[in-house]
Amino acid sequence: MTRFILLGAPGAGKGTQAKTLATLRHIPHISTGDILREAVSQGTPLGVKAQGYMDRGELVPDQLVIDLIRERLSRPDAHIGWILDGFPRNVTQATFLDELLTEIDQVYDHAINFEVPDDVLVQRMLGRGRKDDTEEVIRRRLQVYREQTAPLIDFYSSRNKLATINGNSSVEEVTATLEQLV
Ligand code: ADP
Repeated sequence: MTRFILLGAPGAGKGTQAKTLATLRHIPHISTGDILREAVSQGTPLGVKAQGYMDRGELVPDQLVIDLIRERLSRPDAHIGWILDGFPRNVTQATFLDELLTEIDQVYDHAINFEVPDDVLVQRMLGRGRKDDTEEVIRRRLQVYREQTAPLIDFYSSRNKLATINGNSSVEEVTATLEQLV
């Protein structure tokens, strides 16, 4: 059973690696960012609520992502394992996740933190050209990451659940490191 949480700043490469790992292990890649972008593009009620926050580089309200994660992890395909990418993003979400997993009788293996220097993150994000990848919004997302998401490194470390990998190398090298770890 493979259950991993991917941690790291925006642009750290979580999404790219999560896709590869999910394919190799035949388990779902659950990305709150992807789910929210899909909701925005389809104009669903969730998308309408989330869009402004995403455009500004802010976190969407916890309750929105908490509800969607509860629903997603309860689906049959998630019973065999999963990779979480972009969730949890603050201590409230991490605490919720621990409670939910206890409730549905699931245990995660590790939270894997991707370490990448800030200047590399910015260059990568500017290069990918997503709608929220303008310089101003990128700066805001990095600030939100430092203030709200980085504390999760201590959260998982204090539970002896943290693994760290160097995300500042080629996609193939990071994949190889990750495969050794999982
Ligand atoms: P990245 O990590 O590259 O910045 P994501 O695709 O993970 O991008 O997220 C894009 C946006 O979606 C975030 O800036 C935020 O507005 C929203 N988002 C994604 N996941 C969460 C979450 N767990 N909690 C709150 N907002 C989220």
